[in-house]
Amino acid sequence: MPKILLAGGAGYIGSHTAVELLNTGYEVIVADNYSNSSSEAIRRVELLTSKSVKLYQADVRDKKALSEIFSGNKIDAVIHFAGLKAVGESVEKPIMYYRNNIDTTLSLLETMQEYGVKNIIFSSSATVYGEANPVPYLETMKRGACTNPYGWTKSMMEQIFEDAAKADKKLSVILLRYFNPIGAHESGMIGEAPQGIPNNLMPYVTQVAVGKRECLTIFGNDYPTPDGTCTRDYIHVVDLAKGHVKAIEYILDNHCMEIFNLGTGTPYSVTEIVETFERVNNVKVNHVYGARRAGDLAECYANADKALKVLGWKTEKTLEDMCRDSWNWQKNNPDGYI
Ligand code: NAD
Ligand code: UDP
Repeated sequence: MPKILLAGGAGYIGSHTAVELLNTGYEVIVADNYSNSSSEAIRRVELLTSKSVKLYQADVRDKKALSEIFSGNKIDAVIHFAGLKAVGESVEKPIMYYRNNIDTTLSLLETMQEYGVKNIIFSSSATVYGEANPVPYLETMKRGACTNPYGWTKSMMEQIFEDAAKADKKLSVILLRYFNPIGAHESGMIGEAPQGIPNNLMPYVTQVAVGKRECLTIFGNDYPTPDGTCTRDYIHVVDLAKGHVKAIEYILDNHCMEIFNLGTGTPYSVTEIVETFERVNNVKVNHVYGARRAGDLAECYANADKALKVLGWKTEKTLEDMCRDSWNWQKNNPDGYI
């Protein structure tokens, strides 16, 4: 079976993707520097699948480390998850974000070129649609102006991949624009383990529910949406992981430069998330309504038709599944992988 290198594969989305790839029969190699993860996630991936992962502790910017990985393994395709992803931190430390996120991409592309590896899938984000495009977002829309350095790194890296694919006719690239991944593997063994105070909604909700934080602040209830709170396209991380398997199958069979939205196409509001979480898990989530958070868009959701048409992929899990699985992970692992 083909060998797939997951750069940043010990993280939240990478570990779930590793499970789905292994269960489909692919061989999985992971390179991660554990800057936002731990090897424990991969140990659990192995337990869950009864398969082994070749694991390298490596900084993906480091071309010497990458050379060792590429020379020791005949890699068929790379999925590039490695990156820093906290929006607020990127505003405070833009240089660190540009350095890490762009260098990982350049080092991977250069090393792939050196070793003749021709297939790469990149973790992009709905953030590249920017502020001006109307919802639902379509892959044919132009990238817009981002509101923070994290978003700009994604936008710039998309440009780098497009230019590289244009110049190297044998290089195949798939840019996957994720919407809002939440949830966890239904086993409760792997999930999202943010360090410090969570930036994202669902980990904050679960930490309030488990008593680690006192109260969720809902950022704004005066948006032009049905209940006044922002809407997002929340997607179960296992559905997202399965989208990667479909993208791998596609890229191994087709020479391509394609962009796919990975979302459900259905927006839910912050209030709906909190209410659904409380209802399906029978727990209370203390919350108050506060001021808007700078840079937030009122609405963000995908048109997910292309992924269905071309990859044969669509989401299968419900918002209830997302809330239940997030809680199951949090309850079983109140301090993450520790
Ligand atoms: P994550 O932080 O859990 O995973 C990223 C992994 O990359 C971590 O394991 C981290 O240790 C590793 N990493 C970072 N820099 C590295 C480096 N220089 N060398 C080696 N490893 C490095 O995040 P995630 O949620 O799994 O996200 C994966 C990718 O998807 C990221 O690129 C992220 O920007 C993108 N993305 C995430 C979301 C989201 O909401 N989670 C949304 C859109 C896009
Ligand atoms: N949100 C919130 N309180 C929080 C964290 C997030 O009300 O403590 C809201 C935020 O304003 C947004 C939604 O939840 O409308 C999703 O935010 P997240 O940071 O998870 O994703 P993104 O903003 O990147 O879509």
